Amino acid sequence: MAVWNPWHGCRKISPGCANCYVYRRDESIGKDASVVAKTGDYNLPLKKNRQGLYKLTAEDGVVFTCMTSDFFLDLADDWRQDCWDMIRQRKDLQFHIITKRIDRFAQCIPPDWGDGWDHVTICSTCENQDRTDYRLPILLNLPIRHREIICEPLLGGIQMQKYLETGLIEHVTCGGESGDHARLCDFRWIQEIRRECIRCGIPFYFKQTGALFAKDGKIYRIDRKLQMPQAKKSGYSYIPGTGSANAIKYQLPERGALFAGLRKSDFRSRFHLTDQDRTYIQEKGLDIIRRHAADFVAKRLSPENPEHDGKQTPMKGHPVFSAQHATACCCRSCLEKWHHIPAGKILTDCEQAYIVEVLMQWISEELTT
Ligand code: SF4
Ligand SMILES: [Zn+2]
Repeated sequence: MAVWNPWHGCRKISPGCANCYVYRRDESIGKDASVVAKTGDYNLPLKKNRQGLYKLTAEDGVVFTCMTSDFFLDLADDWRQDCWDMIRQRKDLQFHIITKRIDRFAQCIPPDWGDGWDHVTICSTCENQDRTDYRLPILLNLPIRHREIICEPLLGGIQMQKYLETGLIEHVTCGGESGDHARLCDFRWIQEIRRECIRCGIPFYFKQTGALFAKDGKIYRIDRKLQMPQAKKSGYSYIPGTGSANAIKYQLPERGALFAGLRKSDFRSRFHLTDQDRTYIQEKGLDIIRRHAADFVAKRLSPENPEHDGKQTPMKGHPVFSAQHATACCCRSCLEKWHHIPAGKILTDCEQAYIVEVLMQWISEELTT
């Protein structure tokens, strides 16, 4: 990736701006970030090296444009046309423009923009519901070839499915706020946006937790250098059709990483078949138990939003229930955490079959002990 900052400095206009990193960084070196000025890199896309070749090449990847300001800032109105000219000349590059001022786009586009330029992606920031409902209708109605949404810093729960359903949004990024005065980011907000992306088949990127992160009712302070790795580790990003949701190819976990991990969990390894369970299995036979397992999975786990999700599996009363808790196949969030099957989507036949296999493997292993 490359960065092109034709000018530096900005004005705060939105709740997401409160702890703006440009201001924070400038303050730390005694600079006033509200002063907007062209930079030495103003014409970076046209700069050439000694051999007469462009310094920026397609190999540098996406050119993130105007990252220490806002491309549509009014104070930069006199300079923007030059920038469009440079962008027009460099059709071999991919420009990404992230803005909180999508409402100024229409008055800022170049005359030959037409229905958009293929090498320009416009990303609108949406930090809360209010800004989402204001900006996304504008973004969707503009002549733009590639549209993305960035919910960072995410400051509240957002419902955006009706905008995603248009099929006009190509990517959604979410993340919490960093810095000493960071505001809270709740994991449930991330989950909700992700669920909506999955429903609409839109790639979702969980970029960073932010410095103050709430999960399962607890609040965590997360060190700057862990904010991105933690988000990555969660496995929460989602790319349609590549493994995580649509085209899952599971390997049965036979003695593999999954069962080893389950054995290490105090909670999971506490579950065992009871005497009652064993008698029941003996009476019914494993084929019937397998049918029951398939039935529980289909009815209680498979819907997009199963009823009473998180509480749909009793702690005892059927051997399959014990197997479900022991193997983390009890609810959609456990399935997501342990088996990487995303919540918020209907389970495919192949996912259901996979779960049944895991349950039956656990039961068989229990019977031999
Ligand atoms: S628009 Fe972006 S760069 Fe400008 S003040 Fe807000 S957060 Fe900072
Ligand atoms: Zn569970």
